[in-house]
Amino acid sequence: MRVRVDDDKCQGHARCHALAPEVFDVDDYGHSKVRNDGLVPEGYEDRARLAIANCPEFAITEK
Ligand code: SF4
Repeated sequence: MRVRVDDDKCQGHARCHALAPEVFDVDDYGHSKVRNDGLVPEGYEDRARLAIANCPEFAITEK
């Protein structure tokens, strides 16, 4: 599973990082940066999907 973040939509709530820090890092402004080129570590797929569902800007997509 891979995820990507649309930088134009991301507003920097860092909610994704709070829910799945293994998948999403954040910069100094709270904007999300995917770790590992978006490749979700095995066993963290549910957390990644939780982050997708909880992004208020719909900025995260599975690819
Ligand atoms: S939850 Fe969505 S809007 Fe907030 S930092 Fe993560 S990707 Fe960006």
